[in-house]
Amino acid sequence: MTSSLATVAYIGAAILFILSLGGLSNPETSRRGNLYGVVGMALAVLVTIAGPRVAAAGVPWIVAALVIGGGIGLYAAKTVKMTQMPELVALMHSLVGLAACLVGFASYVDTSIQYTGVEKTIHEVEIYIGILIGAVTFSGSLIAFGKLNGKIGGKPLLLPARHWLNLAGLLVVIWFGREFVNAHDVQSGMIPLIVMTVIALLFGIHMVMAIGGADMPVVVSMLNSYSGWAAAATGFMLGNDLLIVTGALVGSSGAILSYIMCNAMNRNFISVIAGGFGGGAPAAPKADGAAAEPQGEVVPVSATDTAELLRDAKSVIIVPGYGMAVAQAQHTVNEITRTLRDKGVTVRFGIHPVAGRMPGHMNVLLAEAKVPYDIVLEMDEINDDFPDTDVVMVIGANDIVNPAAQDDPTSPIAGMPVLEVWKARTSIVMKRSMASGYAGVDNPLFYKDNNRMLFGDAKKMLDEVLVALKG
Ligand code: NDP
Repeated sequence: MTSSLATVAYIGAAILFILSLGGLSNPETSRRGNLYGVVGMALAVLVTIAGPRVAAAGVPWIVAALVIGGGIGLYAAKTVKMTQMPELVALMHSLVGLAACLVGFASYVDTSIQYTGVEKTIHEVEIYIGILIGAVTFSGSLIAFGKLNGKIGGKPLLLPARHWLNLAGLLVVIWFGREFVNAHDVQSGMIPLIVMTVIALLFGIHMVMAIGGADMPVVVSMLNSYSGWAAAATGFMLGNDLLIVTGALVGSSGAILSYIMCNAMNRNFISVIAGGFGGGAPAAPKADGAAAEPQGEVVPVSATDTAELLRDAKSVIIVPGYGMAVAQAQHTVNEITRTLRDKGVTVRFGIHPVAGRMPGHMNVLLAEAKVPYDIVLEMDEINDDFPDTDVVMVIGANDIVNPAAQDDPTSPIAGMPVLEVWKARTSIVMKRSMASGYAGVDNPLFYKDNNRMLFGDAKKMLDEVLVALKG
């Protein structure tokens, strides 16, 4: 394939990626968006293999790698549970970072293209920055993977003088960058490159270890953005325009998502970029001891009584959380919604931006169960409506409905906007026990006078509610 034909195909693939991102921004168009992405990626891979930069002798190797990698990817995608998706995504991000590091080292030791003068400096800067971003993405994403699947505890690791440590690391990286670019040969350049890689790996670990459980959504979207920049850096090292464009698209859309997540969590974007935000010591308790143990009594309710409350209501808001994903209760939720709407009850959904374990988690589940999009509302759209709502059904959600975020300045989730479900006439929380959510924080909602607890697996309890509703 000629290079001009390859360029035209690359432009086509880039347009498909942009259409894909546009499609993925809305549940209604997301399938189409996904399809654009698949077609764009297939085109990109085929054109790269058939393009002028790949020698015929290398094609069998690439095909073999594609079959093995594609097979593993297919197996992972088929077997992964919906609740394990965030960990899988974190693992994928780490692979992008690893690829950037490997390509960086390979381009440095590759002497088949001889760069001189300014071109040599630019190429080495590309390698240095590419490996730097790749190493931070790689180790940071591995730690995020461990935190998301529970192998690493959610408690933030706060080293003394951690910001000074980060600053010292940055200065050393800059110093070794100068040494690297001034090195006369590959051997002498290798030492600063390896030292920087080790520091970047340690920084990635330190950055994510310092993040508290409740702040993980921002980290996930931030590492998504880093993986995009790592891919763009790989594109610079390989001189591949499409990889630069694709990486920049992922990097910038991830950055926008991080910004949205920061707003949702009421965190500062700059301190996120600096790392280790939000995990600091909580604010001092109020002098009058306002931030005390939850007050009140926990009142359990049965599935039959829940059905009764729902049947008598004029307006119902359903707030789904991570437990709905674990229980795979979304189809029963849809059935209950249909039954209630048939009886003339107004049913809507309130979706918190960080509900579940990945951005858009609840929207995906509800779309899968065919819940109409027009009754699924964002937190900002529905939060003022709780005082006029008869019954709120909280299904496997905890942190996102925790009033301590507003009332307790000592809480690790203090300041995070939450769905104000306790303002409804009655709230019913469905979960299996009194256990805390991902952030590990007690929830005073469970003790409020107007709250009822429906204990049990969400799917099982909702099935019972549905039977009672229909009976
Ligand atoms: P939480 O983790 O706060 O609470 C989920 C609740 O679901 C648990 O308390 C659990 O209680 C209950 N549960 C679990 N399994 C079941 C089941 N089978 N049936 C019924 N209930 C069940 O989830 P939220 O959605 O409220 O909040 C999301 C949290 O995750 C936030 O802290 C957020 O910061 C964090 N996070 C979000 C990410 C994102 O991008 N959305 C990414 C990473 C973290 P019990 O064990 O008693 O049943």
